[in-house]
Amino acid sequence: MYKMAVDKLNLESIVNYLGGGILCCKNNSVLTIVYASSSFYKMIGYEDGEITALFDYNQNLVLGNSPPIDWRRLAVSLKKSNFIELELKLIKKDGHHIWTNCHMRLMTEEDGTEYFCGIMSDITLKRRLRKEQREQLKAIKRTERELAASEERYRIIMEQAADPICDYNFKTQELYCSPPFKEKFGIDVGVDGLLEQLYHSDLVYNDDKSHFMSDLYGIIDGTSAKNPEYRFKNTDGNYRWYRVRCTVIRDKKGEPLRMIAFITDIDKQKKENMSLKEKAEHDLLTGLYNRMTTIALINKAISQSSGSSHALLVIDIDNFKNVNDSHGHLAGDEVIVDISTKIKNQFREGDIIGRIGGDEFVVFLKDIPLLGVKKKCEILQGLFHSVHPKDDQYYKVSGSVGVAVYPRDGKSYRELFLKADTAMYAAKGEGKDAYCIYSEELRNVGHDIEKYDHRI
Ligand code: GH3
Ligand code: MG
Repeated sequence: MYKMAVDKLNLESIVNYLGGGILCCKNNSVLTIVYASSSFYKMIGYEDGEITALFDYNQNLVLGNSPPIDWRRLAVSLKKSNFIELELKLIKKDGHHIWTNCHMRLMTEEDGTEYFCGIMSDITLKRRLRKEQREQLKAIKRTERELAASEERYRIIMEQAADPICDYNFKTQELYCSPPFKEKFGIDVGVDGLLEQLYHSDLVYNDDKSHFMSDLYGIIDGTSAKNPEYRFKNTDGNYRWYRVRCTVIRDKKGEPLRMIAFITDIDKQKKENMSLKEKAEHDLLTGLYNRMTTIALINKAISQSSGSSHALLVIDIDNFKNVNDSHGHLAGDEVIVDISTKIKNQFREGDIIGRIGGDEFVVFLKDIPLLGVKKKCEILQGLFHSVHPKDDQYYKVSGSVGVAVYPRDGKSYRELFLKADTAMYAAKGEGKDAYCIYSEELRNVGHDIEKYDHRI
């Protein structure tokens, strides 16, 4: 007896320690409680022995499984299997419920009386977590289904869109090209080292390549301007202008996952714009920069200058009216065009050459020492002296050149122009066919152009 009590105590304390309880009921219609551990009572919030009568009255006030457990069938099963594990819902005194995992056996006494004996542990929290996990799983499945549906929609759009589209997956390094993309560019770049391959292929027009590559890396980093424009080679071998609209899909850390590029053919529009820009910036007769563009470009060059010495030349054809008067305006035009071409050929790519008036030109020479300027002026004089053909007639003309030096004579186009023009008029005053470099002595002999001149 003592030993049994000790055994019982030990068992109870172990079960109690595990956060569970023991319940032993007779296998009769009311499931008469023959033993319940105090930890069982504690688990459901009753005092020891408090539910015995309640059980006798209706055990479903404590056992809350729905539908209720069929104890008769359970007894039959237990006789077969000896041991069953089931989840029991217990209604607490305060009306809340808990879930327990119950390990149950059917014990039979010598007189044939049967008892359901169960050891229960509280699994309410576990069940709640399990439920949450199930819901999470359901949500994931739903998202996957939605994603698959949207991928399908996306695939259809890709297939049906008239404009070329390509989709690069950074993780798998796969490149998907839509049918119009393949059709237009006949692209066969592989997936490995895609960017390198693009660089080495002739898909991108050579002059656009470095711009294209830096834009591409910029788009991936999220630093570059969107919708850049490039020339791509078509399957017919010709380059056309395209606008590329890129979208980069990133993960939570901002790392790129996919880059989708929508490519629009803007060749016609781009060429029209370029020709309009060309027309707006250039003088129609000579193709040199017009006055507005010349001024803007010179001011820009000055603002980007880092202390180098530059020179502004104002060139005016001498007695040009005579050409017009003697040979007609058209012949005059041809002379202007011829002189323009000759002037242009004398200067470097980066120098700015413009026609700012009828027979008047401006040249901005970058990074040039004074000696270099003088040499250029001498070359210009020789250039004017060369004959200018028109049909079978030849004209001899000369020009006068005025020079102002940056930064000595001025730090803007306006300041430099006023001084170079003063110097040019000084050259004219000296009998024309000459060049003159501005100096302070000219300040007072200079004509008063600042007030009325339309060229500045
Ligand atoms: P100067 O030596 O003092 O410069 O005398 P100039 O005769 O060259 O006179 P000026 O530079 O003042 O005038 C330039 C003339 O060029 C005025 C105009 O008749 C003529 N001209 C202006 N624009 C054009 C043009 O587009 N084509 C032609 N053929 N002549 C033009
Ligand atoms: Mg003139």
